[in-house]
Formats: sequence, structure tokens, C-alpha cells
Amino acid sequence: MFADVLGHERLRAALATALAQDRLPPALLLSGPEGVGKRRLALAVAAALVCETPTPDGACGQCNPCRRLARGITIQPEQRAAADEATKADPLRYNFTLHPDVLLVEPSRSGKSVSLKVDQVRAVVDQVAARPFESRARAFIVDDAHLMNEQAQNAFLKSLEEPPRTSHLMLVTPWPQALLPTIRSRCQELRFGSLPLQIVERQLQSELQIGPDEARLRAVLSGGSLGEALTLDTEAYAALREDLLQLLAAAERATVMDRMDLADQVNALADAPAALTVLRGLLRDLGAIAAGGGASQLINADVGDRLAALAAGPLGARATALAQAVGDTRDVLLGRIPGTSLMQGAAHKLLALDVLMDALTIA
Ligand SMILES: [Zn+2]
Repeated sequence: MFADVLGHERLRAALATALAQDRLPPALLLSGPEGVGKRRLALAVAAALVCETPTPDGACGQCNPCRRLARGITIQPEQRAAADEATKADPLRYNFTLHPDVLLVEPSRSGKSVSLKVDQVRAVVDQVAARPFESRARAFIVDDAHLMNEQAQNAFLKSLEEPPRTSHLMLVTPWPQALLPTIRSRCQELRFGSLPLQIVERQLQSELQIGPDEARLRAVLSGGSLGEALTLDTEAYAALREDLLQLLAAAERATVMDRMDLADQVNALADAPAALTVLRGLLRDLGAIAAGGGASQLINADVGDRLAALAAGPLGARATALAQAVGDTRDVLLGRIPGTSLMQGAAHKLLALDVLMDALTIA
């Protein structure tokens, strides 16, 4: 049922209507941030296509095909783990038959490389041309579709040219720009936004059995990506935050020599985008305190006392503007598009360091 997918009401309603009127486009491109439910919605569409007794809100969830598909979805991670561990890499093991008429394709892994191989795509093309086994339609979901190289994308185009009415293709990706224009122009694109923070918080509390404070912290830090919020390593976060709090506190009374030493310490922090995420949160909180905000507005409410002491110093007045600059830098660092990455490795770190030193250089 579409109601089981969090958020994205407009997209859900459009898909439910298209299915009810039997006017689902032959090819959909589901694009948008990581971890907001694109693949989940694609699976809900697939379920509606194979369900024996669909409702106005998609699959019934009760009939035999619905239950078999649900089982396929449940065991798929185990099948992927088995494929990962196989001694001989076999790309076709990453084409998962979730139900006789529902195929899910994921990038295959061999050694360090993760990509959608042309063999995987050719297998899809063959199946797209075939009739459904038992349902009124078949669904083909290609996850992380941007990981098809050009050869694979060209092979895929065949399926998009004239798919039989009974075959529905769904490409899922956070990077639609990486797909050939000929592919994009043949798909109806559904653009997903971030999930509202309240929805992410509620889901985190029920799924992880955590309190409202931690749920809020995870939701804010992940910027509305439930997937990221669920897997966030809060211990690593706390350790990184402690480093940065000490740096900010030391910066207040630092000499020029001290600052160079601080720069070295920051440089030693392993993950520049993560450090910037944490720093942005701290600076936002300092700005909120400086503006008279209460504890309920803080991301890092658990270290509110230390933040209040910092906000009373010279950093308080500049914190909000700095938070913006730090956030912008982080977005640039994370805004990498396959094949067009502008900054990597050492350059990432240098830029991050610049922003951080700006934060620390208190006039
Ligand atoms: Zn059903």
C-alpha cells in the first residue's frame, strides 16, 4: 500500500491514480536524495502491479502474490550478502527475482568496484521483452541506475524504445544527471524531496526505540534522509563533536602559534564532510543561543552548558553566518557527481580546513 511509504504524498497520489486508471507510464525515473524512500515507492508500485485484489491505495498486502513479493523483499539482503561473499564474482547474482514478475537490479560488487554491468542490463532487456509469468504486468526496478556505464546505458535503451504494455521499468537514482539524455527523455521523472524532519523523528523513535532527543539529533544531522538517520553512528558523532568543541573553546584564547597547532589537529580529523556537518550543527546552536533561543531549539541540547559559555564569547555574534558558510562548503564537498568530481582528497580537506580556520579566527 502506498500509505506504508513515508511522506511524498503528491507522488504517491499521482502513482495511485495512474495505476487505478491503468495509465502508468512504461518507464519511470525516481530521482532525489539518498534515503528518502525512492526504492520503497518503486517496490510499492511493483506490488500494485502484481497484486490480485488492488485497492485505490495500491496493493492489498494480503493476497498470495503480495505475500510472496513481501517475502522476496525480506530475503533479498541475505541473497545480496551471499553474492558479496561468493569466491567468484557473478554480476547476474545481483539481479534479484523478488517475485516471478518483479525483478530488482542492484550494482554488482567485485573487489573494490561497484557498478551495474552490461551483462546485468542485457538480462533485464531480455526479460522486459517477455510476457508476464502470472500477473497482469511485470516490474523491473534498477537501483542506483547512475552506476550503469555508457555501454550498459546503451544496452538499456533497447528496453526503453518499445517496451510491451505489460512491462514497467523504474530507474532509481540520486544522480539522474549521470544518465544519458536519451534515457532520461524516455522516462517520466518523479522528483523526490527530503522528508520533513517530524516524519523522520517519529519513524526513528519507533524503528530504533530511541528517545526524542536522539531522534531529533539524528533527523537534523541527516537533513531529512531517513536512511542516513537510521545508520548514523552517534558514538562517532559524539567523539568528533568533542574534538570540535575543544577546538572552538581553545580558539578563543589562542595565539597565532596555537592556531597553527589547531589547524594541524583539524587536519588530522579523518572525514572532512562529517566534521563540517558536526561543526555546522554546533555553530547553528551557538547562533540560536546568542539570539536568545532556549534549549528546545538546540540540536546539541545535551552539551547546552558548554555551548552557552562559547556563545557568550566573540564567536556568538558570528556563529549563524559561519554555520551557513560551513553548510555551503559541506554541500559542495558532498555534491559530487560521478565523472565530474571537481575536488578530491587533499583538496577536500584543505577547503574544509579553510572554513574551519575562518571559524576559529576571532577578530
Ligand atoms: Zn495483493
